[in-house]
Amino acid sequence: MSTFQELGLNDDLLHAITDLGFTKPSEVQEKAIPILLESETDLVALAQTGTGKTAAFGFPMLEKIDVDSRTTQGLILSPTRELCLQITNEMKQYGKYCKGLNVVAIYGGSSITDQAREVKRGAQIIVATPGRMKDMISRRLVDISKIQYSVLDEADEMLNMGFKEDITDILSHTPDDKNTWLFSATMPREVATIAKKFMHNPQEITVGNKNESTSTVSHEYYLVNARDRYQALKRLSDANPDIFSVVFCRTKRDTQKVAEQLIEDGYSAGALHGDLSQNQRDLVMTSFRKKQIQMLVATDVAARGIDVDDITHVINYQLPDEIETYTHRSGRTGRAGKTGVSMVIVSKSEVRKIKSIERIIKRQFEKKDIPDGMEICEVQLMSLANKIHNTEVNHEIDKYLTSINELFEDSTKDELIKKFFSVEFTRFYNYYNKSKNLNIAEGSFDRGDRREGGRDFGGSKNSTRYFINVGGKDGFDWMKLKDFLKEQLQLGRDDVFKVEVKDSFSFFNTENELKEKVLAFFTDFKHEGRFVNVEVSENRGGGGRRDGKRGGGRRDDRRGNSGNKSERRRSGDFKSNSDRSRRSESNSKSSGSHMSRPRRSRR
Ligand code: ADP
Ligand code: MG
Repeated sequence: MSTFQELGLNDDLLHAITDLGFTKPSEVQEKAIPILLESETDLVALAQTGTGKTAAFGFPMLEKIDVDSRTTQGLILSPTRELCLQITNEMKQYGKYCKGLNVVAIYGGSSITDQAREVKRGAQIIVATPGRMKDMISRRLVDISKIQYSVLDEADEMLNMGFKEDITDILSHTPDDKNTWLFSATMPREVATIAKKFMHNPQEITVGNKNESTSTVSHEYYLVNARDRYQALKRLSDANPDIFSVVFCRTKRDTQKVAEQLIEDGYSAGALHGDLSQNQRDLVMTSFRKKQIQMLVATDVAARGIDVDDITHVINYQLPDEIETYTHRSGRTGRAGKTGVSMVIVSKSEVRKIKSIERIIKRQFEKKDIPDGMEICEVQLMSLANKIHNTEVNHEIDKYLTSINELFEDSTKDELIKKFFSVEFTRFYNYYNKSKNLNIAEGSFDRGDRREGGRDFGGSKNSTRYFINVGGKDGFDWMKLKDFLKEQLQLGRDDVFKVEVKDSFSFFNTENELKEKVLAFFTDFKHEGRFVNVEVSENRGGGGRRDGKRGGGRRDDRRGNSGNKSERRRSGDFKSNSDRSRRSESNSKSSGSHMSRPRRSRR
């Protein structure tokens, strides 16, 4: 692995790279930068989202242009306004010590005169969306007749969006002897055609396998009836209280609809698609970056290339039309060395697409069940318990303590805990208490609600579900936890299943016969210095029979249960974000009995 210095970049750029905290070049940078610096060549580079493509073309372009001249020498085309701004911003940072450098962004939805004025002041590099660029060329507001370097960033997406003619038109105003650098995450036929048409003997580099998915992302799919899609989405979100996700829909209309519905149902969600005003899009992106929004519902185009770290889940509300697009979607998570989950909600008519995707990404999907209502209640309750356990006491409360104590004089600790948790729990419980099983079996007829309480994929009638007080925070993902359990308990390959890792706790199943062994093993077990606690969980792991009744209609709105919107806001009270798990004994016992009460009464 070489350093940026060894790649041959100048001191101004190296200085900026140090400021940015980049220690070593990414693979695409390591491959592209020397080629682009050393030769005047065309280039086709295939690399996943998040691999550092901007710097791969940005550094060489900055190195090669003449900042003393005010002529426009570099043109970068990118599909969306968001990306255009993002690239401009990166380029400015990379070139902050290049004195005299002027990078200008050109994109629709903002004053064309202002942009023209900026260009006129002398922009060595223009970063543009194709539509606005074409517009400015036809109005003679820009001159790209002397550019030496043109970049087609996210080329596949630009073509998907129908920019082929605009690009052709724009490039016809550029010199024939310029160099064209094409960057793309995938190589569909259209991109190959463009490369052939506009480029001369391009050098080619590929990072990772074409279209292949990163190994830090695990892929899951959930099979439900098409009409239950939205309910399934809500459950997946509720089962992951700390979710920070992008939810992909196929059309702008669905994107808007799903986001609106989520907001109405009390989730912290926002929509991002091309029919929104620029201002609305900026606002939603800012909120998402600040994590004020937990679920960004987006179209592929609008979300393309947007660089937000820490996304825990990508949810494919619908599969994309072109399965190659799945790679981009799942690439939004599992970045910067973190693990992520890409979930697909599929109906029966689309389930075969999963196989095709597996072939493309060269990874296996795990078929999972949408959690049932009680499992979600349990997750939410434990998440809240953890949050409370870790909350720092605010001593402003001390002065009210006497009166509060008087009020609860006759309550035991157990009663108090139960009451306290009921405030939150009852809301979820009321909502989910009569909820149906959303899962359908592969190959079954689409009999919808009648299947509820039907066959369970994991066979939970013969299996036992356990709660264990370790989770993602302890470095486990489902694979690691499964391995850990198998190893500790000396079990066979398929003896541990339905492993669900949450932030600070997890669930898993074994056959009933193993129950005693499992519980006995974990009665006094320490892992890395702390007690690991395993208990039988009341929830059966997604497929267990709940009751014979239907859920309260399609639009079961949680508001009906609490009546108070602000009280229900998910971003607020029912979310834990700093919950290091360690259920104290009394806590776990009491929450256990608390959980079981409403359930028994329903059987
Ligand atoms: P892509 O265009 O391939 O999706 P970006 O160019 O947007 O990727 O880069 C993704 C993120 O990685 C950006 O935040 C960028 O600043 C950062 N980055 C790029 N190169 C490096 C590097 N060599 N070391 C650390 N971070 C980097
Ligand atoms: Mg990019």
